Amino acid sequence: MNLFDTQQIIGSLSQHMAIWIGMTLFFTMVAAIFPAVHGQKIFRKDYLTDLALFFVGAVFYSQAFIIMLHGVVAISTFYYNESVIAAHMKDGTPALRALPFWAQGILYLVISDFILYWLHRWYHSASLWRWHKLHHSATEMDWLTMARFHPFNLLLYSTFVSVVMTLVGFDPAMLVWLAPANLIYSAFVHANWDLEFPRPLNYILASPIFHRWHHTHTKEGGNSNFAPTFPVLDVLFGTYYHPVAGSKPVNLGLDNPKQNLWW
Ligand SMILES: [Zn+2]
Ligand SMILES: [Zn+2]
Repeated sequence: MNLFDTQQIIGSLSQHMAIWIGMTLFFTMVAAIFPAVHGQKIFRKDYLTDLALFFVGAVFYSQAFIIMLHGVVAISTFYYNESVIAAHMKDGTPALRALPFWAQGILYLVISDFILYWLHRWYHSASLWRWHKLHHSATEMDWLTMARFHPFNLLLYSTFVSVVMTLVGFDPAMLVWLAPANLIYSAFVHANWDLEFPRPLNYILASPIFHRWHHTHTKEGGNSNFAPTFPVLDVLFGTYYHPVAGSKPVNLGLDNPKQNLWW
């Protein structure tokens, strides 16, 4: 178990610094040309909280992944042997590993999106909402809103799914490629960008407007559009929301904003 590897932490922080600068430049330009909300400031409401969560995440989740992976194996087998985990990560499930890398990638994305879709719906239920409301408290949204998650929310969400997919036997290199891809996609759907895809692409890939509806008040469509990447899941399970052309998501945030956001 390779915890608190200083080199790795510094690498992750500098990678996030580069992502922050690059994304800020790119999405500021996009918001100036194609804004979903006109005139929103770069340093909008809650910017510093979201920025702090973004950098905390750079250190926290890679460590959490290692601890959770080893913990789940130890608890589920009543046995802990680091070499068993290392061997499983190396060999995985032969049938999966025999697939070409791109096919594994597509399978990984489809299965993980399916699990994330149902976890997300669970977070909108009474039992888990308290850990998810922080994400929905954003009244001004841009790409950095992707970092606005309670740590527990992300543990039992993307971290948990990465552990499950590793145990299923996918090539761990998938995580190296797909974790940044998921991060970029999440930044994209949270951006202040008046972009929705034409049919049938709108059923295949999530757009910023598709996800912006998810952030509106419940009456306006808030309890819909749960899929992180593939809206076809919302279509299949009856939660897809795409009102008539021309109407736009306006009121973002919680139905009841006066509440504690952290527990
Ligand atoms: Zn949500
Ligand atoms: Zn969101």
